[in-house]
Parts: sequence; C-alpha cells; structure tokens
Amino acid sequence: MNRKKFLQLSIWTPLALIMQPLKSWSIDTPAFASNENVLYYKKGDAAYELLRNGFNKRINKYPRVIAKCLNEKGVAEAILLAKQNRLSIAVKSSGHCMEGFSCNNDGMVINLSELNTIEWLNEETVRVGPACTLSMLYAALLPKHKIIPGGSCAGVAIGGLTLGGGYGLLSRKFGLTCDSLKSVNMVDGKGQLHTGSANSNLLWACKGGNNGNFGVVTALTFTLHQAPPTMQSFKFRAYKLDTARARNILKNWFEWTKLLPPQCFSAFVLNRNTAYVLLTNTGELTPSTKKFIDAMKSISDKSTNTTKMPLQAALKNYYGRQYPLYFKNASAGLYKGFSDIEGCIDEVIQQVHATNGMIFQINTLGGNIQNPAFESNAAFAHRSYTYFSELQTYWDQPAQQKKCMDSFQKVQALIAGNGVTAQYRNYPDVLFSNWANAYYGKNYNRLVDMKKLYDPENVFKFEQSI
Ligand SMILES: Cc1cc2nc3c(=O)[nH]c(=O)nc-3n(C[C@H](O)[C@H](O)[C@H](O)COP(=O)(O)OP(=O)(O)OC[C@H]3O[C@@H](n4cnc5c(N)ncnc54)[C@H](O)[C@@H]3O)c2cc1C
Repeated sequence: MNRKKFLQLSIWTPLALIMQPLKSWSIDTPAFASNENVLYYKKGDAAYELLRNGFNKRINKYPRVIAKCLNEKGVAEAILLAKQNRLSIAVKSSGHCMEGFSCNNDGMVINLSELNTIEWLNEETVRVGPACTLSMLYAALLPKHKIIPGGSCAGVAIGGLTLGGGYGLLSRKFGLTCDSLKSVNMVDGKGQLHTGSANSNLLWACKGGNNGNFGVVTALTFTLHQAPPTMQSFKFRAYKLDTARARNILKNWFEWTKLLPPQCFSAFVLNRNTAYVLLTNTGELTPSTKKFIDAMKSISDKSTNTTKMPLQAALKNYYGRQYPLYFKNASAGLYKGFSDIEGCIDEVIQQVHATNGMIFQINTLGGNIQNPAFESNAAFAHRSYTYFSELQTYWDQPAQQKKCMDSFQKVQALIAGNGVTAQYRNYPDVLFSNWANAYYGKNYNRLVDMKKLYDPENVFKFEQSI
C-alpha cells in the first residue's frame, strides 16, 4: 500500500495522547492510571497473575505492565503509552500461542480478552472481537446453520488463529479460517487505526502473516458459510506397533488420503506404539471415501465410528482440554507426500515409541485450501503442501521437562535433516533456525515492507517477530 492510501485509511489518531510529555518510567505514574478505555495491571495486582498466564504452563514471562483494553481507543492509548516508556508490546487474545509470543518480559502486554463479542452485520456476515473463542463462535453460529471454518480446540481465539492462517476439520471444504476474512480493524505501532478490506495489503497480511507483527487487530469481519448439518467420525486403531508396521500404516494413509473429497478431514496420530487414523465426513459417504474406510480397516486392529451427529455436537468431541498444561507442541513440517519424510520416518517412529507423552500427528490440508482465488489474496504461503504435521509432547511435573524437550528436539532435527523446510506459523518453534522463510516463504519480504509502514519503530517485538 502506498503512503497516500495508508494515510487515507487512518481513521483517527488520538492526538492528545501523542502530545503527552514523556514520563520517566514507573507504572505508578498517573499516565498508567486505568480509565474507561483501558485497565493497567502490574506485578502484585490481584489480576496480574491470571492475565499473565497463557495456555502453556512451560512458559512463564513477566511483563512490566498488562494493558487490558476495553475498546479500540484503549488499544491506541496503550500503544502510545508503551512507546513513550520504551516498552516492547506483545498482543494477547487468548494466550494459546505455543511458544508464549503473546506475553513478554519487562514489556507491555496488550490483553484483548474483553474484545470478544460477535455482532451479526447481516445473515451472511459477522464482526467478531479477536478474543472470541472458537466455542463461543460455534455456539453463536451453528444454531443459525452458519459456520466459519475454524480450528477444533474450544479455547483458541479467533484473533491469533486467523492471523496465522487457521485450519480445522472443515478447511478442506471451505478454505482456511483466514480465507473467510472480509475486513479487519487494526491499530498500528503508531496508535493509528486502519481498516483493511477487499484488495488491501492489510487484509492480505492478516490472512496468515500478522500474528502480533505490526499491529493489534481489534475486529475481524467474516463471510459465513452454510454449515453442513452433520458430521460423522471414524477411527481406525492399531496397537503394539513395531517400526515397520507403523511406517506401513502411515505410507498407506498418505496414499489413500489422496482419494478423499473436500468434505473429509483425516489425521494420522502416533502415540508411543499405538496409532490411530481419524476420518471426519460432513456429507454423504462417496465411493472413494468408502474405499478409504475399507483400506484403513484392512491395515488396522480395530475400527469404530459415530453416527452422523449434528455438527455442533460433533465439533464438541474435539474441543480438547481447556485448562493450562505443560507441553511443547510445534509444527513438524508441511509435506506434499510420504516421500518428504521417507528418509527419516523410521527414526522418528522409534523416537516417538521411546518417549512417554510424545505424539506425532499428520493432518490433511488440500481441498479448498488450494483454491487459487484464496492463494492470491492471502499471506499464507504454503498452500501447495497438502499435509501438516505437528509434534506434541506433554508432561505433568516440571522435572520431566528436560527429557521430553530433548527428545522433541531430536525428532525436529531428524525432520529438518531430511530437507523439510516449510512450517505453519500458528505452531511456532523458537528453535527453527530459518523461521522467516519457514513460516512466510516467498511472502516474507512483502510482510517486511508492511512492518516498515505500520510499525517503523519495532514496537511489536518477540522472539520471531518480523
Ligand atoms: C490446544 C491448542 C489447539 C489448537 N488447535 C488449532 C487448530 O485446530 N487449528 C489451528 O490452525 N491452530 C490451532 N492451534 C494453534 C493456534 O491457532 C495458535 O496458537 C493461535 O495463534 C492462537 O491464537 P490465540 O489468539 O488464541 O492465542 P494468543 O497466544 O493470544 O496469540 C497467538 C499469536 O497471535 C498474536 N495475536 C493474537 N491476537 C492478536 C491480535 N488481535 N492482533 C495481532 N496479533 C494477535 C499474538 O501476539 C501471538 O503471536 C491450537 C493451539 C492450541 C494451544
């Protein structure tokens, strides 16, 4: 976007705030007094701990100040105050970032938890606050037979999910979450509000390239889809696997998933020496889906399925745990097929077999995610990859962490060593060496230009920020 257009889009600038004198740093100065737009919290305040925490108990950071913003104006006020006091800003909608990028040490966290409303603009369009969680969203949309293709976990917020892409059980049918995004409001690093709508650079960036990088997204407007009325799920389990059998099931899964129509999602999940294949289907069973089912039955030990359930009830089966956990979960590569991991898969399987609490999972992408119209309008750079892998490891006590993390790193090194380079930004890993290219690919330089435009002083800063 050129500078003229950028200035036109700037809706308002709180001049009074810009003109405030610089204050020497102390959260107790009157500048940090809470008001009707924003509430400020510091260490020792009763709410500080609650607001500081994220979903991952492994990560503990202590911001100098938490600005709980009550509206867009509050966001702008907080940004300007952070600038005046030379505090880096992290942005938090729900705190589900797997590496804790929505919190920081010694900076300011802009907490958006109050911006969580859903406003119906018409029957096909909703404006949603960034902290609206997926369970809130589905509960509002599905009774009206509408849906946005979001993720599966109940507590994830639409803000971070959409800004990094967003995939889930319905993405092959409708595209990524960000592909349904129609417009956004964003307050930039200068405290200026912008609206990004059709064909704007800003909207493009917010479709996969703007997790906390150069502004605070305060509202997201989505085009809705007609929700499929039902979903049916199938599980094919295999037990006591040795490496050869686990590999064979995975290889077959890659082959057979190529047959699945867009209404289906599938995942391969390996946990120690047990594996299961999940299949979900939101339409009639097509002949090719039936072939997939037969193939999976023939290589598994046990198969189960649900009946066709109303979509809202079916999605609840995937809501997951909703309280903070000790874990490491990260993207373990975007793949085009089995050959991308063939050279390292035996060692990966052996490492998963040997590690208590470790899960290696591969999910189908493809389908409508590859719609060329979506590709040209979004910063999400990896649509040619039809599979997304995530590595997870969970533990109960901090003392178990080192062993789990070491094992995790071994698997990541095996996969990287096999030449896998593309990664999904919503599942970051602080140890990715070439994260800029891994997350954003060919779109990185365009995003850097937007950073220069919207946040030239680099106020929004974290371990892997642009
Ligand atoms: C249990 C669990 C299940 C998950 N399931 C899925 C899934 O099914 N599909 C999927 O695609 N992903 C999934 N994810 C990953 C999820 O999409 C990312 O963690 C996402 O970034 C979370 O966004 P959030 O707003 O909830 O979290 P936050 O931690 O608040 O934010 C995540 C990132 O986005 C930035 N951000 C958040 N809000 C804003 C905003 N308003 N403006 C600017 N930047 C912002 C933050 O600064 C941070 O970098 C899951 C994560 C977890 C922990």
